[in-house]
Amino acid sequence: MKIICVGRNYAAHIEELANEKPTDPVLFLKPDTSILLKKNPFLIPEFSQQVHHEVEVLVKIKKIGKHIDRKFAHTYYDEIGLGIDFTARDLQQQLKEKGLPWEKAKAFDGAAVVGNFVQKSQFEDINDLHFRLEKNGTIVQQASTELMLWKIDELIEYISKYFTLKIGDIIFTGTPAGVGKVAPHDVLEGYLEEQSMFSIKVK
Ligand code: ZN
Repeated sequence: MKIICVGRNYAAHIEELANEKPTDPVLFLKPDTSILLKKNPFLIPEFSQQVHHEVEVLVKIKKIGKHIDRKFAHTYYDEIGLGIDFTARDLQQQLKEKGLPWEKAKAFDGAAVVGNFVQKSQFEDINDLHFRLEKNGTIVQQASTELMLWKIDELIEYISKYFTLKIGDIIFTGTPAGVGKVAPHDVLEGYLEEQSMFSIKVK
């Protein structure tokens, strides 16, 4: 399986990092080795002094597809989840300045938290899902999928022009505003609507 991540999909997050608003979705991949194993703590890697949390809504692909039309994109997934795209922001900044790929900052071991998945059928509208991240019990990121620049079905159409989607692939749909540094002993808890989707300890 592979993880396809979308960058810069929420206007307020683009502003907080002073990035340019993209004309197309920004895509990057994470390998399966980046998935943080269930119940394991997140270890801050020694090569970064500034690892940021990015809470994101996840979509799990259930059938193979290429060049998927947005009209049919909804038939490619039943499950929605929540996760964290951990980002070594200091390293990413250096790579961006040099025009280099982001993988070392985004795809390292443990950089992908994949929380629980739930059936999309339990939600009235997946384009207005509320989600949040709490750090040590305080809300640090909070948004709705309504604020996405590209909605889930549009993302599937766009991604599948470049990458064949396969069963079990996971899309990270981008982070809203409020990203911030994590420190040892932090506890990060993600909620989709009122359901707890993951709880991670930082070491
Ligand atoms: Zn992200």
